[in-house]
Amino acid sequence: MSPAQPLDALVIGAGPAGLAIAAALGAEGLKVVVLSPEDCRDPWPNTYGIWGDEVDALGLGHLLEHRWSYTCSYFGSGSSDSADPANSPTCHRRDYGLFDKNRLQQFWLERCEAAGVQWLRGRALELSHGSGRSQVATAAGEVLEARLVLDASGHKAVFVQRPDRGPVAGQAAYGVVGRFSAPPVEPGQFVLMDYRCDHLSPEERSEPPTFLYAMDLGQGRFFVEETSLALAAPVPYATLKQRLERRLAHRGVAIEQVEHEEFCLFPMNLPLPDLDQPVLAFGGAAAMVHPASGYLVGALLRRAPVLAAAVAARLRAEPAADSLQLAQAGWQALWPPELRRKHALYQFGLEKLMRFSEPQLRGHFASFFSLPSAQWYGFLTNTLSLGELLAAMLALFATAPWSVRWGLMGMRGREVQLGLRMLDP
Ligand SMILES: Cc1cc2nc3c(=O)[nH]c(=O)nc-3n(C[C@H](O)[C@H](O)[C@H](O)COP(=O)(O)OP(=O)(O)OC[C@H]3O[C@@H](n4cnc5c(N)ncnc54)[C@H](O)[C@@H]3O)c2cc1C
Repeated sequence: MSPAQPLDALVIGAGPAGLAIAAALGAEGLKVVVLSPEDCRDPWPNTYGIWGDEVDALGLGHLLEHRWSYTCSYFGSGSSDSADPANSPTCHRRDYGLFDKNRLQQFWLERCEAAGVQWLRGRALELSHGSGRSQVATAAGEVLEARLVLDASGHKAVFVQRPDRGPVAGQAAYGVVGRFSAPPVEPGQFVLMDYRCDHLSPEERSEPPTFLYAMDLGQGRFFVEETSLALAAPVPYATLKQRLERRLAHRGVAIEQVEHEEFCLFPMNLPLPDLDQPVLAFGGAAAMVHPASGYLVGALLRRAPVLAAAVAARLRAEPAADSLQLAQAGWQALWPPELRRKHALYQFGLEKLMRFSEPQLRGHFASFFSLPSAQWYGFLTNTLSLGELLAAMLALFATAPWSVRWGLMGMRGREVQLGLRMLDP
């Protein structure tokens, strides 16, 4: 049955972003409907990781299914010979966790339910604006009217507009959850990035670098994933799969039982949406994926209440506010100048990393994770102020080897443009 209209907010999509923002708008007392083709309780396809401190700061550590304290990366020589002293792991000394995705979904669903959020099955097709409100036509021919539409339909957003700034780089990964002939990582270990590459020929090492993201899931199960930082066009799955198998074979490890295969591809440097459009967005649709780490869920949890409060405050202050005015209040809260500058800075950094060779990347990350823990952690979770972020980047430059410094100094392609955007975001 169609909900009574007009609604205060119509949220498009029931992924993590849709549920997070619907729960937060509902908590502000708004009349909210979520429109999605699937049932809001259908399990999500992706697995979501997060730093332990990030989830603890939100008081949500209980939503994790796995948590590791032995967290490390390998940036030493390209060799995986454990007798090689340059090959010892860089220990991160911070916990890392994987969400229990059902618990995370349930967490938001319970809040939605408590706030009276309503659910509608359907696919949004067209958006129009009239009489100060927004109208969404669904594939089934229904028309829904709301004071504000929030596009949370993911990276290939259905309504939200953004400028075309050239090719968008994607983080691609191929992973396997399963059982192996021997442990692919040490017992109890979480590996953020393993850049060892002595299983590759010199020619292959000159191709775009990939790294291993891996973890011990306990009871003889492991998750191993060959990952590329970001590239346009993305590294093909077939290449990633072949590299993963070779990496494992080189260590004498064979995959014995595949429980789940993960095919991961999402954009890392989507331009920010136009901030003067009468539709608001949240999550992947709003370019909220961290351009350096690819993480999103921590930002959803932190920023949904802020965005919802800004929209609700505008509605309370100006009960007759139209869709454009409400969306503008939202865009200003979601992407204030400081966050836009930081986003430009991250994209500038990513652009440089995308053209780094494998030895340069190893040098870069070894220096990055030698920064004080608060600096690299704040960088990866986007919790530093602009000044602190700049200080972290300068410290990295000062401590990095010359091969990395030269790479950081040279300006190529659209780096100048991105650099200027930091000044005028
Ligand atoms: C394999 C993988 C692993 C990832 N791992 C992590 C991680 O560890 N940590 C992390 O923080 N991030 C991770 N990410 C990145 C990011 O968090 C995800 O892409 C995230 O799912 C984006 O959330 P979202 O809600 O914005 O979009 P989505 O999860 O894509 O949800 C979009 C929703 O919109 C609906 N929809 C789409 N079109 C329409 C339409 N026309 N009408 C109505 N509804 C529509 C969809 O059905 C869906 O419900 C990962 C991504 C992938 C692909």
